[in-house]
Amino acid sequence: MKIDIVTWTYNSAKTLTKCLPTIDRAIPRENTCHKIAVDGGSQDNTEDILREHGWQVKEAPKKGIPYQANHALGIVDTKFFASFEHDIILNPNWFERMSRLIGSDETIGAVQGVRLYTGSKTMQAIERWQYRARLIPRWVYSIDNVLYRTEAVKRSGGFSDECMASADGILRKNMFLASYKWITDYALVSGHYRKDFFEQFKHQINAAQLATYVWSSNPESGSLPRRLLSTLGGNPVNVLNMSLQSRMLRVPVAWYILRFEKGLYLSLPHQYKSVKRVAMDDWYLREFQRDVRSSAADIQSNAKNAVKSSCVWCAKQASFVYELPMAWGNILPKLHPRIGPRFAVCSPQHADKVAEKIFKDAFDYVSPN
Ligand SMILES: [Zn+2]
Repeated sequence: MKIDIVTWTYNSAKTLTKCLPTIDRAIPRENTCHKIAVDGGSQDNTEDILREHGWQVKEAPKKGIPYQANHALGIVDTKFFASFEHDIILNPNWFERMSRLIGSDETIGAVQGVRLYTGSKTMQAIERWQYRARLIPRWVYSIDNVLYRTEAVKRSGGFSDECMASADGILRKNMFLASYKWITDYALVSGHYRKDFFEQFKHQINAAQLATYVWSSNPESGSLPRRLLSTLGGNPVNVLNMSLQSRMLRVPVAWYILRFEKGLYLSLPHQYKSVKRVAMDDWYLREFQRDVRSSAADIQSNAKNAVKSSCVWCAKQASFVYELPMAWGNILPKLHPRIGPRFAVCSPQHADKVAEKIFKDAFDYVSPN
């Protein structure tokens, strides 16, 4: 497989010298066709650094991720191509893993890994802990370490400018509509370079301002205590564990500042912003059902958990208890007023039904056109 590699830049000199060599390390020269960078008019030495690392630099018709990405898409001439952003520290196994995955099935339109902060010790401690605790959803997506089937991107309309911060989420949904899968390999972790905590703080404000859409796996959680808890940093037990494991006092401080910044922003009236549910397809539904099924426990051994002993689907005698899996985001089951993260059912078939209902409530389930 020989691929074009694209990136979009704007005053990115600070991170490019760290990021570009990791791309070269992960993608062998014999598998690389063109390296195309579309610059949005940088005033620093972004262009020089790109050329030094063997990239062709093209000028964007207009500054902004969707415009720059589409300009790159117009130049790509390989069957598969990859996109990276200026702050990726690419996992050395990325190309080997991603090319095998996308090559295994014609209906896969895009594959990617997960990225976690690196550089800033504080940000790194926070995200590594979240990852280990499975608080980072297994469906997480971005367009900064993705291998695409070029035809799938073109058929899905390329990179949309509907929301300047959501080209990834929109393309992913459009791929589902066009019957392509977008698969995240949760075990393939790359770095996401942040010099320090303050960089992240600034970045988060910029991203929030740029966005038209706010994406959520649970937009209807309108309860005030829940929103307040989230603004104040989420479950305090999590924060305590994170702090103890990292043994850094600045970790909880940073966590609370970032969460408060985000929560405050989201609680402001956002005139132009709309909350959207994260899109999911049948492939993710099957994964979810599999995760739910693997939590099965015999109802007798769970008697102490005071789970109702009738099936929440059909009200017959229940025999099993299931638990909603972690790593799918903050899903509130709405099947029934008092259903918690655990539910009892009569059979694995009804567990699948319940899981499907919860999944379709929490996400924007997309059936192909
Ligand atoms: Zn049942």
